Amino acid sequence: MERPILASMDIDAMRHNLTRIRELAPQTQVWSVIKANAYGHGFAAALKGLALTDGFALLDIQDARYLRENGWKGPILLLEGLFSADDLKLAFMLDCTLVVHTESQVAALETFDLTQHQAKPRPIYLKMNTGMNRLGFSPSDYRLMYHRLHAAGYAMHHMTHFANADRVDCLPSVGSQYDLFNEAITDLPGDTSTANSGAILWHRTVLGEWVRPGIMLYGASPSGSFADIAHANLKPVMRLSSEIISIQVVKKGEKVGYGGRFTAPEEMRIGIVACGYADGYPRSASDGTPVWVADGGDTSNGVICPLAGQVSMDMLTIDLRAAPLAKIGSKVELWGKHIPVDDVAQSAGTIGYELLCALAPRVPIQLVV
Ligand SMILES: *Cc1c(COP(=O)(O)O)cnc(C)c1O
Repeated sequence: MERPILASMDIDAMRHNLTRIRELAPQTQVWSVIKANAYGHGFAAALKGLALTDGFALLDIQDARYLRENGWKGPILLLEGLFSADDLKLAFMLDCTLVVHTESQVAALETFDLTQHQAKPRPIYLKMNTGMNRLGFSPSDYRLMYHRLHAAGYAMHHMTHFANADRVDCLPSVGSQYDLFNEAITDLPGDTSTANSGAILWHRTVLGEWVRPGIMLYGASPSGSFADIAHANLKPVMRLSSEIISIQVVKKGEKVGYGGRFTAPEEMRIGIVACGYADGYPRSASDGTPVWVADGGDTSNGVICPLAGQVSMDMLTIDLRAAPLAKIGSKVELWGKHIPVDDVAQSAGTIGYELLCALAPRVPIQLVV
């Protein structure tokens, strides 16, 4: 028999989340962001669950090729543009829309012989750095780059990225970035794309023509805190599940696992779950991190059994005192409908994004339709 760990992707939940985005941002078109293997969910799940999106945004041209080979005919946005001028031909063959953020990309596009590849003007999203200081042109350089590419025959659009759409106490603020952006593009034609999930949830006056949701498509929180999206009616897509493969009865004072981090406060049962950091469960998760266990045979009748002891490569250990009926073979959910991935992430000092993306290749993926 196979190891019982499984990542199931709820395709209906993905569809539902896209619908929620359309309700929140009704005047916009949606670039569904599926970088990092669709935040760990797999491109096959994304193609199914997000079939009604207006476009897909990702990083690698090979992934764009996968989408085309699997029937996607709509727009594809390469979020970091070209990594080498050699990719330009392939990018246009695959009918990709490029983000342009450096002068060398502008130069490559200017010298490219468009006449061989020009069914229609090639769309470009020019990226402005409005304060995040990661990718893009300063507002003062932006207009020159815009005019160069426009003169070279490209169809120009505008893009920037918010550093703090999911929080209120950090600078630069969404408002200041948005104002800088709008001032710099005054009178320049083209669509605008500014909003990530945080902006769609919490700053709906700055959405532009095309929004770029990522994390909310997968039902997790941009802020890293599930409480912040509890009322947004998003549904978790990924369920990481496994089973109890062994049970130890430990006496009061006995230690559990590497480093003996957990000490039994009384005689108790410890459940050994077939899931470890080599599956993508965070090793940094602290004792007390919630794990859901089906108590008895009924998979709907679950209880929370806290992590007890250091996560190891292939296993983790849980405190079974709340689940007297749990036995070898009992179902366990590490995250999903019962345990928000954001809660596990918080216990591990990170955000849901990182856990979802880090789902290990050795974990089988099942699409639930
Ligand atoms: C990842 C990414 C997004 C999506 O961000 P979320 O916080 O997941 O919604 C949008 N735009 C750009 C440029 C990105 O890199």
